[in-house]
Amino acid sequence: MWTAIVQDGVTAEICLLKLRYMDYPKITRRIPVCLECGHKIRYGRTDKKFCCEQCRTRFNNAQIKAGRAYKRRIMKAISDNYEILDRMVRAGISSVDLFELVNLGFMLEAVTSHRRVRHRDEYACFDIKYIMTPTRISGITKISLNLRVGTKEKK
Ligand SMILES: [Zn+2]
Repeated sequence: MWTAIVQDGVTAEICLLKLRYMDYPKITRRIPVCLECGHKIRYGRTDKKFCCEQCRTRFNNAQIKAGRAYKRRIMKAISDNYEILDRMVRAGISSVDLFELVNLGFMLEAVTSHRRVRHRDEYACFDIKYIMTPTRISGITKISLNLRVGTKEKK
């Protein structure tokens, strides 16, 4: 036995055991937190997201509600934009300053399509298209859709 050396009242044998123990990597378990209430989840799988069924349901319902509210807000913005553009088309206005347009309640990011045409950005709000530059929109025109809904070709 190699217990002759004593250091701070601890035998050398015990010191070696301590060293071996300290060499092991520390295994720490990350304790997940409930996404709804924020309480620590101390049982179950480590990838558990909710502490109970009630929290899971509450969280998912809030997600659905937020998604619907976002969709409604975007649809309203597109609808408002269309109203503004339609009034301009009917008044024969084909170009307007962006600052004035935003003051009317126009949301620049609410569009139904965008494409790059000969180094210009062409946007559309349903059947009304326009070119947007950093300072104004121009070329506001209504596209003829030629919709023939419900008609079948007769042979
Ligand atoms: Zn919870």
